[in-house]
Amino acid sequence: MHSDHILITGARQNNLKDISLRIPKEQIVVFTGVSGSGKSSVVFDTVAVESQRQLNETFPWFIRNRLTKYERPDAEAIENLATAVVVDQKPIGGNSRSTVGTMTDIHSVLRVLFSRCGTPSAGEATAYSFNDPKGMCPECDGLGRVVRLDLDKFLDRDKSLNDGALRFPPFARGTVPWQWVAESGLFDPDKPLREFTGEEMDLLLYGKGFRVKRLNRTGEMGHNAYEGLADRFDRLWIKRDAGSVSARNRELARQVVTERTCPLCDGARLGQAPLASRIDGRSIADYCRMEVSDLIEVLSGLDDPLARPIAGAAVTRLRRLEEIGLGYLSLDRETGTVSGGEGQRLKVVRHLGSSLTGMTYIFDEPSVGMHPRDVGRLNDLLKQLRDKGNTVLVVEHDPDVIEIADHIVDMGPGAGRHGGEVVFEGTPARLRRAGTLTGAALRRTRAVKDDVRAPSGRLTVAGADAHNLKNVTVDFPTGVLTSVTGVAGSGKSTLVSRGLVAAHPEAIVVDQSAIGASRRSSPATYLGVMDPIRRLFAQANGVDAGWFSFNSKGACPACDGNGVIFTDLAFMDPVTTTCEACGGSRYRPETLEYRLRGRTIVDVLRLTAEEAAEFFTEDNIAARLRTLNEVGLTYLTLGQPLSTLSGGERQRIKLATRLHRTGAVYVLDEPTTGLHMADVETLVALMDRLVDAGNTVIVIEHNLDVVRRSDWIIDLGPGGGKDGGEIVFTGTPAELLADRASVTAEFLRADVS
Ligand code: ADP
Ligand code: ADP
Ligand code: ZN
Ligand code: ZN
Repeated sequence: MHSDHILITGARQNNLKDISLRIPKEQIVVFTGVSGSGKSSVVFDTVAVESQRQLNETFPWFIRNRLTKYERPDAEAIENLATAVVVDQKPIGGNSRSTVGTMTDIHSVLRVLFSRCGTPSAGEATAYSFNDPKGMCPECDGLGRVVRLDLDKFLDRDKSLNDGALRFPPFARGTVPWQWVAESGLFDPDKPLREFTGEEMDLLLYGKGFRVKRLNRTGEMGHNAYEGLADRFDRLWIKRDAGSVSARNRELARQVVTERTCPLCDGARLGQAPLASRIDGRSIADYCRMEVSDLIEVLSGLDDPLARPIAGAAVTRLRRLEEIGLGYLSLDRETGTVSGGEGQRLKVVRHLGSSLTGMTYIFDEPSVGMHPRDVGRLNDLLKQLRDKGNTVLVVEHDPDVIEIADHIVDMGPGAGRHGGEVVFEGTPARLRRAGTLTGAALRRTRAVKDDVRAPSGRLTVAGADAHNLKNVTVDFPTGVLTSVTGVAGSGKSTLVSRGLVAAHPEAIVVDQSAIGASRRSSPATYLGVMDPIRRLFAQANGVDAGWFSFNSKGACPACDGNGVIFTDLAFMDPVTTTCEACGGSRYRPETLEYRLRGRTIVDVLRLTAEEAAEFFTEDNIAARLRTLNEVGLTYLTLGQPLSTLSGGERQRIKLATRLHRTGAVYVLDEPTTGLHMADVETLVALMDRLVDAGNTVIVIEHNLDVVRRSDWIIDLGPGGGKDGGEIVFTGTPAELLADRASVTAEFLRADVS
């Protein structure tokens, strides 16, 4: 038995070509290769899935039945696995009760500190929890914000009740709530609200405590208790349990409300007793509002002997946040507002706190969103995990992370069906001499661009002061490629989204946010080729195009065209299993009897974009598919659910549908996410073409390969959070090389030398 290796034999998951691998345990193993080469297929879809599946098998059947079912990965054997912990970039979740403090468990340490040492003590530690009824602010239930009906949105005061003064659709003319007031006899339904007396307005919105006559649905006259419209809205739309309001109705209600900081706790989320409890004049809410780096100083300065050990425990954890470059965050920051990269680093911190050993940690491009300065700190954390006796598997493109690998597995040679093989295994030194795309990219020369373009004009952002920005005024040149750089938290996204895009809303923002699409969306639907493809099938077979839609007649009746069966469980995530009737193809069997040039619709949806562009000579289809070429996504299959795309892939597929303009301003947020060094070349070439076609391209980027090939650089800093928010440098890459103040310059110099 080779218990010192994870052994994979005959893996064929996704594009893997029957590969066998020995992955050394208790080492840092980095998986490299171009996007789509198969790195995730090995690490996530084979190793992580099998490890989770084997873990589930150890539970008794009645628990196992309630766990997410994992299908056995397509491999002959996978041996010597340990429990896998996947640390990915999936959003941590939008629950507004989850903050940096709660998810890292630092908040609970502070609660213990205040319950023991705060004066006056509010009680035990739960009395300081905004997620516990004992501690939460009664006005906002611990959310720090309250939602209130906004009368300016709710009412059109120029109109009368009869001609549409009530703007909220569920209260519109003819609805029951409208009848309540318009037919109550209390108001003149033809008088514009503007002419209502103060008393009438009060009655309309808040009146209660008397009965009014009303014609019931049965046609009888009844006497009902009157309720003002604002109170009714509060009762039915705000105070109600959110789960019982449908998404559509919530959306409607959102249009007539505003969200404000809670007036009682001023956003602190806590009740008055915990807020009154202080240590050296500060409340627990004051602690949570501070940046992590400042909080470390305050806690380290406490000299009460009772407080010191507890404060020390908090400081140990806070230091981990600082070490990983997140010292600019505050503990009260909602986890729903952190970026994917920040979220991943928060997850790392949580795991470092645990004393588990013998685990397999799996990271998905942990350097995302990190300035080169912080990558060194990330490397230290990965080494710490390894030295505790864990196996650390990392999918990564960053040369500085590749450098610390004990062992590298380079996948390739290309993407999709051109990939799926192990093209190199060994040390970083040997990889630099290897004849693979990764080896070649590591050897490339790294000169800065000297023939920069001249701008055609400028877009000015004046006096920007959102978040940490310090009254920033800066020009973005047009007609060129500009990189906005700076350490994480320095204010890049804020400057671009709150400053530039807000002032110049015509900008085309291509970000990594979810594509607001259903489970049924795929590259084919997103690029608009699904309809023409269905029509071709219909023509060729002389039947209705609906047969080729799994949203319509073609849908497998057993799964309604989902391809999977969802089993809802009372207290857990639903269980998903492949539909047996259609084998996951989503189509009814009859549909698969129709063919186009020898292929069924299911065969076609399994083609990669590259293969499909050859199969469809029709211009309206082929041309659209070829746009995926330009963004390096030809390896996607037409039918792959968009929900399986990574953030970087989502951003690039969005970009593909927005190409071929002129005079536009493109704004891209870290477009190199998920890209191999060779793919970065393709992306820079695409951005160059966009600029040459008369557009302006502005990217937020850390990737030095993009920075040194830009025409203009705007560098923010000097640090993150309150230590950032200023423009440190603007100029060309050659000028940046000579700059002595910017941290980015320092790393660019190291890179080109
Ligand atoms: P990498 O991690 O190197 O970018 P992946 O392992 O994600 O590459 O992808 C390898 C190939 O497998 C690609 O052609 C990709 O489109 C395909 N693939 C990945 N995930 C899925 C999936 N869930 N369903 C179908 N094909 C997939
Ligand atoms: P960068 O893009 O350079 O990483 P950001 O613009 O995201 O920096 O952040 C700048 C500062 O603004 C940081 O201190 C960050 O914590 C803060 N910040 C960013 N987004 C939010 C938000 N949604 N709520 C509160 N603070 C935020
Ligand atoms: Zn409150
Ligand atoms: Zn089915």
